[in-house]
Amino acid sequence: MNTRVVRAACPHDCPDTCAMLVTVTDGVATAVKGDPDHPNTAGVLCTKVARYLERTYHSDRLLYPMKRTGKKGEGKFERISWEEALATITTKLKTIAGRDPRAILPYSYAGTMGAVQGESMAMRFFYRLGASKLDRTICSSAGGVGIKYTLGAKMGMDTEQYEHSKLILIWGGNPIASNLHFWMKVQEAKRRGAILVAIDPYRSLTAEKCDHHIPVLPGTDAALALGMMHILIRDDLLDHDYIDRYTLGYAQLAERVSEWTPEKTAQTCGISSEQVELLANLYGTTAKRGDPVAIRVNYGAQRARGGGMAVRNIACLPALVGAWRSPAGGVLLSSGETYPKKDRQLQRPDLMPHDGKRPSRIINMSTIGDDLLQPASAAFGPAIEALIVYNSNPVAVAPESAKVARGFAREDLFTVVLEHFQTDTVDYADIVLPATTQLEHTDIHATYGHLYIVANNPAITPLGEAKPNTEIFRQLAAGMGFDDPCFSDSDDDLAAQAFDATHPHAIHFHWPRLKQDGWMKLSVPDAPFAQGGFPTPSGKCEFYSEQMKKDGLDPLPAYLPPYESPASAPELAKKYPLAMISPPQRNFLNTTFVNVKSLRDTEGEPYLEIHPEDAGARSVADGDMVRIFNDRGSMVAKAHVTPNARQGLVVALSIWWKKLATDGKNANELTSQRLTDMGRAPTFYDVLVQVEKA
Ligand code: SF4
Repeated sequence: MNTRVVRAACPHDCPDTCAMLVTVTDGVATAVKGDPDHPNTAGVLCTKVARYLERTYHSDRLLYPMKRTGKKGEGKFERISWEEALATITTKLKTIAGRDPRAILPYSYAGTMGAVQGESMAMRFFYRLGASKLDRTICSSAGGVGIKYTLGAKMGMDTEQYEHSKLILIWGGNPIASNLHFWMKVQEAKRRGAILVAIDPYRSLTAEKCDHHIPVLPGTDAALALGMMHILIRDDLLDHDYIDRYTLGYAQLAERVSEWTPEKTAQTCGISSEQVELLANLYGTTAKRGDPVAIRVNYGAQRARGGGMAVRNIACLPALVGAWRSPAGGVLLSSGETYPKKDRQLQRPDLMPHDGKRPSRIINMSTIGDDLLQPASAAFGPAIEALIVYNSNPVAVAPESAKVARGFAREDLFTVVLEHFQTDTVDYADIVLPATTQLEHTDIHATYGHLYIVANNPAITPLGEAKPNTEIFRQLAAGMGFDDPCFSDSDDDLAAQAFDATHPHAIHFHWPRLKQDGWMKLSVPDAPFAQGGFPTPSGKCEFYSEQMKKDGLDPLPAYLPPYESPASAPELAKKYPLAMISPPQRNFLNTTFVNVKSLRDTEGEPYLEIHPEDAGARSVADGDMVRIFNDRGSMVAKAHVTPNARQGLVVALSIWWKKLATDGKNANELTSQRLTDMGRAPTFYDVLVQVEKA
């Protein structure tokens, strides 16, 4: 027997980007495990990826190109050859592009986080074609913009330092489910005496295990941060020296937060003023003692109307108390911009034709439901006639799902989907192309949760006739007659172009060596902002942001109530009195893994967590089937009556494949396409609903 171990990377949309070791015997992958030597992975994979072989060798894998034989949405297909598939696609795209290439739209996100199989060859193809650009906003852009206004970039604490923190605020996230290796550091900190606080409307698995849980109403995190700042200033729990040297706009900030008394904050957030006092006091006094205080803010805090401002306000806190002085103090939303990525080199926007005939067009992926139904107009441009979907499952994950499905069902829309499985989106495809999984192709990974570059070597040959995304777009480019030399770059060429080795952070980056070693850490200081040096226009942490003013935003930390709340929509709140959030199920990752039976069996069936008071008022008992509805749609789920959902809140853990859910619908039937204050992102947790017994 010929057995070898291959160095790989977990490709999924998770901040941990684990380094994996894949055992291959006689060409068959027989085991995957976390690399025990990788300081963040520490030999551990989460429950999902520990089952990666079940997914890779799943009997439902798409192994051949197919064309649609039934109605759109029915999911009936027949096998065709690659030649026929590529010819059908390129013929159609040439016809459409001849009229206006902007009628063609790519749709992709983080189905793989790899720089090669993500947006490299694919983007070259769409730029060269002159297709509409996709505004990739569906997950993180609100918080990303908010933190950039404040700190200057999506960067912050090194995850490895949290084990030395003495107080950790876990804000808007459930790391046990979706940031496991951060949670391992938190556990170590706890063993060393740290106090843990979860700030989350939902008493999640993580919140249950923290010392304190502050159950704010969804979309009110910005107000809580303002209230904390009020108390820190009132009680002089500040680092005046740090503020004087390394921040901008303290006086204006102090004036702004003066109105955010504990009482007003408590009323806005739906908590007690004692909880606001406790939180601010813990934060301020721990820092004042000289102990490191850390915040891990995650994406739950930014999925409402004021989501960008929420993250901005939270990001102001460490500078007020001088937390950045210690490597174990500060805040982290994303480490993504610590990496010197060479996106322009990989994606080649210079390939875009500039013939002066028409301006380029950007379509926001979060409003795809509306945009697929838009007719041609002077304002919108041409109607979308062709959609190429890869690394995404929009029919299940995009908001206001009924509209999305209606758009995908358009008979005059030509849809191509690159996929591993027959997802809800594949059911609407005209042509389906089988894509390789991570074990079958080359890739290179930055991450948004630690500071390593991780290599992925192919462990096995592609199953069936599956091809890497890169190869599919190379062949489509050839079919379109694009002969630019960049379409001949191999996957190794692309990986070698991913990072700037002349940048101090990646000075040791060398792809051939990385392939062998598996991973390397960026060269960055332990405490990046100990002496200021924020990559903002002023070089300081900007409590006041002139750039925000130029962008038409409030230049100071502020609070915007959710679109759907009693404060901003009292009539709607009477009709639909319960707020709904839909955070990740522990065994699913967005919609990836829902079709892996062992994982789905662990989750059982779609359920709705509802507080005993709210259930009682509706004569709903634990285990009853309930209908959750609002003006946009409805779904059916089993009621779990539990105080883990605070009163006034229901929780629909997600994201289920619609066709594997109870009534063929998931939580996105209820979400809206309204966008956040910054970053043009969706407001998945800014939703009011009513619940009744089904
Ligand atoms: S999903 Fe996250 S925790 Fe799980 S293996 Fe991948 S990177 Fe690691």
